[in-house]
Amino acid sequence: MASEEPTRKPLPAPDADTAAFWRGLQHGKLLLQHCRQCRHVQYYQQAICRACGGDELEHRAATGRGKVHSFSVVHRAPGPAFKADVPYAVLLVELAEGPRMISTLLGSDPEDVNFDMDVELAFDKISDDVTLPRFRKV
Ligand SMILES: [Zn+2]
Repeated sequence: MASEEPTRKPLPAPDADTAAFWRGLQHGKLLLQHCRQCRHVQYYQQAICRACGGDELEHRAATGRGKVHSFSVVHRAPGPAFKADVPYAVLLVELAEGPRMISTLLGSDPEDVNFDMDVELAFDKISDDVTLPRFRKV
């Protein structure tokens, strides 16, 4: 039995519901789902609207602007693959469009993060197939 390479980070595996989302990231777009029926905006890709159950969802690229709603600084790596990254900040970002998403901070000292700090989306290309949405301080 082949065992998982311990120093490799787990990568997302796009499926039918999320393929468009991951393709968008590769092209520098964070796609949000807008419900045509009730105008709810959601980040997690689903076949139906979580607010009204409607199935008329439309992809629109996020502006990329947001604020830090909450955060924590990770000092102890959750696994060997993350050892070189600590300390790093895990952010709960409230996007300008409303949805909140969990991500990490790029390019700043994690000790500088504050509540309500303005951040903007940054696209972190991990492999040919996967680009992760992360955030930088504005
Ligand atoms: Zn809806």
